Amino acid sequence: MRFQDLEACPFCGCDEFYEKQQTRGTIHYRIRFDGKETDNSDMYDSLLTMYSGRAYCNDCKRYLGNYIKDEVGKVAQRKCFENSLEGESQEVKDFFKKAIADNKEFQKKIESERVRKW
Ligand SMILES: [Zn+2]
Repeated sequence: MRFQDLEACPFCGCDEFYEKQQTRGTIHYRIRFDGKETDNSDMYDSLLTMYSGRAYCNDCKRYLGNYIKDEVGKVAQRKCFENSLEGESQEVKDFFKKAIADNKEFQKKIESERVRKW
């Protein structure tokens, strides 16, 4: 699932996310001798910023995925899928729940087979 397809946080519906960024560097903060306010609007321009792309919901703070890689996180993806089943009958929900569980069992089996071969 692509991150750009998200329209809101799948957990709480918030329409904003934030990215954790790391910055490094030195700033020059200007101060006037007479104590009057001066322009420091460019004071962060010299900082080196590292963009992780890791996106978190602005409200519930849950991890949503990586918007630079354009990927939705696994848990958020599962929640999107669950949300898409809203309004479906319990029978349909149960069907998909079982299909997902079966797929997990299948994946586990494949993993254990792989381990056994080594
Ligand atoms: Zn949220």
